[in-house]
Amino acid sequence: MIREKDLRIGDRVVVRKAGDIIPEIVGVLTEERTGKERLFSMPTHCPECGSELVRLEEEVALRCINPKCPAQIREGLIHFVSREAMNIDGLGEKVVTQLFDNHLIVDVADLYRLKYDDLIKMERMGEKSANNLLQAIEASKANSLEKASVRSRYPLYRRQSSENSRPGFSYNGQPGPGDHGGTLGC
Ligand SMILES: [Zn+2]
Repeated sequence: MIREKDLRIGDRVVVRKAGDIIPEIVGVLTEERTGKERLFSMPTHCPECGSELVRLEEEVALRCINPKCPAQIREGLIHFVSREAMNIDGLGEKVVTQLFDNHLIVDVADLYRLKYDDLIKMERMGEKSANNLLQAIEASKANSLEKASVRSRYPLYRRQSSENSRPGFSYNGQPGPGDHGGTLGC
């Protein structure tokens, strides 16, 4: 589609309502090009860890399948504390990212080892929120099994708990040369 419509980064385009959420690009206003527009090329490697990207069966998106990829570990942690899983109040994406970037948490177990002194060093973290957060983490230990079972959808957990039975990703074979999507130029 990008190639078909000659879309470039920085282009002004005409859109129309198509589906419920994502509008359809009708065409490019080529007369408004300034010459600064850039051609888009599909990435072949993960911007975070540099691993080669693969396309999983029946998926359009390219994925990094490196289990040690920091971006994936961080997203896994964000999912773990989210409303859909452990629902730890006060532990949103920003705080998790900060804790992760400061090497205070590397896996979910580290969440339960966090201390007041670790938290208080975080940006925009006051005494009260640090204490509330510790309480929320503590309280999440009592979460129902049902809730905790959401963790089975969480790749980090799957890797740890079923290492010998099932791989964390249903990934079919080795990446072939055609698996990184089309390159559009440059
Ligand atoms: Zn990666």
